[in-house]
Amino acid sequence: MRVPNAAVRRARAAAPDLTETMPTHTFMELALDEAYAAADAGEVPIGCVIVCDGDLIAQAGNRTLAERDPTAHAEMVAIRRAAEALGSERLVDCDLYVTLEPCTMCAAAISFARIRRLYFGATDEKGGAIVSGVRFFAAPTCHHVPEVYSGLAETRSTELLRSFFRERR
Ligand SMILES: [Zn+2]
Repeated sequence: MRVPNAAVRRARAAAPDLTETMPTHTFMELALDEAYAAADAGEVPIGCVIVCDGDLIAQAGNRTLAERDPTAHAEMVAIRRAAEALGSERLVDCDLYVTLEPCTMCAAAISFARIRRLYFGATDEKGGAIVSGVRFFAAPTCHHVPEVYSGLAETRSTELLRSFFRERR
């Protein structure tokens, strides 16, 4: 498994203006970078970025340990940061990229935030809520459903989680 080094991460962070022309797989690469950074910090390695009209506006990894907050999943942290960046509780025209299928809480937050498109990497049969489990967006009580695309960087997302939990055992 190739782990992007710190210099690559810094170069990417220093060049956010390049994101306008970035294709979707590159945004998933940035989400993966956040997942690797979360792993380095001892968090469950899941990463997320939010893109508004082609501009990267928020990025985050899981922060449940750092924040001592069970709701600090990568998607929740990224949504909070995006809302702050836009000065709006509705993330209209925003697309969310996350390395793992979102859980029920995050699926609900994605719906409440009016996210336009959801891209996720690996499916999560145990904790996911999009194509697994409760399939939140298919519920009649879900009032905003984003377009959903799955399977981006699926292998690396899965391997990152596997190696993390292997090391912890
Ligand atoms: Zn979640």
